[in-house]
Amino acid sequence: MRPWEILRTADPDIFNMIEQERIRQEHGLEFIASENIASQAVICAMANVFNNKYAEGLPAKRYYGGCEEVDKLENLCIERVTSLFGAKFANVQPHSGAQANAAALQAFLSPGDRILGMDLSHGGHLTHGSKVNFSGILYDSFFYKVHPKTEFIDYDQVAKTAQDVGPKLIIAGASAYPRQIDFAKFREIADSVGAVLMVDMAHIAGLVAAGLHPDPLPYADVVTSTTHKTLRGPRGGIILWNNADYTAKINKAVFPGTQGGPLEHIIAAKAVCFKEAASEGFKNYQKQVKANAQALATNLIANEFRLVSGGTDNHLLLIDLSKTEVSGKELEAALGSVLITVNKNTVPAETRSPFVTSGIRMGTPAVTTRGLKEDHMKMVADWVKRAYSARKDAEKLREIKEEVEALTKEFPLYVSW
Ligand SMILES: *Cc1c(COP(=O)(O)O)cnc(C)c1O
Repeated sequence: MRPWEILRTADPDIFNMIEQERIRQEHGLEFIASENIASQAVICAMANVFNNKYAEGLPAKRYYGGCEEVDKLENLCIERVTSLFGAKFANVQPHSGAQANAAALQAFLSPGDRILGMDLSHGGHLTHGSKVNFSGILYDSFFYKVHPKTEFIDYDQVAKTAQDVGPKLIIAGASAYPRQIDFAKFREIADSVGAVLMVDMAHIAGLVAAGLHPDPLPYADVVTSTTHKTLRGPRGGIILWNNADYTAKINKAVFPGTQGGPLEHIIAAKAVCFKEAASEGFKNYQKQVKANAQALATNLIANEFRLVSGGTDNHLLLIDLSKTEVSGKELEAALGSVLITVNKNTVPAETRSPFVTSGIRMGTPAVTTRGLKEDHMKMVADWVKRAYSARKDAEKLREIKEEVEALTKEFPLYVSW
């Protein structure tokens, strides 16, 4: 029996839920900037007998017997990821991006130490010091922002805040920032106050791997990432670094510091992802991700939407609705009803509540994997405009939904399943 048939027989309830989710993904256009569509090879690689294995520790230094095959797997995974990003060292065990950040922070800090990260409402991530997250509970967190006029990171303000605060560690990286990040500038600022520089490239790792975003590795003391966003692998995290003096403390912070047994079946899928990401096809894919984001931005602007910072030079953009009567929440719902999936997002200088917001974040990684090109981005920008205008008109929204469905039919997610 094929694995899917085994599950269908053993647990039809769960089988059907997986099938319904696959159908939902087939039918909708995924514009959530942090999502992607992993290859069938990656999906297959997660469902395997490495799940059964306890392998606390590192290759050749395990706390359990029977780790011969696990060691080969994890070593190959480390080899592939260090070669992909040109890093000397890697830990591929973090269960997620948040876990990678927990370990990286623990490696360099003691509780109560000061950290400086990007303000959440300006594009930062919860794990960069938010007061509701471990990073803002354990550490004394301060924030830098984007410039009020340009909405690019205000490096002068970063430098000044660093001087005022004297952080032990500075975090560069974001979840909702549509522009390139200048890691050399961050290095200069970190050096000026003697801080450790941590780069969280969770969102842009795929662009970095393809050479389409400045590389943080020459500048950062430690780089963390997810593997499931632009990198298009399984859900997971990684930590990279170049300085051998950091190796023991980073590895110790992952295990036993913040995790138990590694998910070796997920590490198998990470290894598959890193092989894919080293291919010429992946480079072309990332080029198209950026070209699609550009085309979407240009067409949204032509449709009279304002974009935060006026555009994008990566894989995502933010529509700014702050000068309109429509909130992020309302437009998210209208787009959801026409099968365009997005998330509401705060914009810099947000005035609405975090549950309502004045922004919509859109990213092109998932639709580009599906095969959509610039022409389709014009169609999407027109649907966004029409859904915005027709947000209270069920009949018009239904018409748009039918057009979206016609397009998704032409571009199946998985050719066979
Ligand atoms: C997504 C993201 C994370 C967290 O990743 P999870 O796997 O969801 O824990 C961390 N940092 C940044 C910048 C992110 O965008």
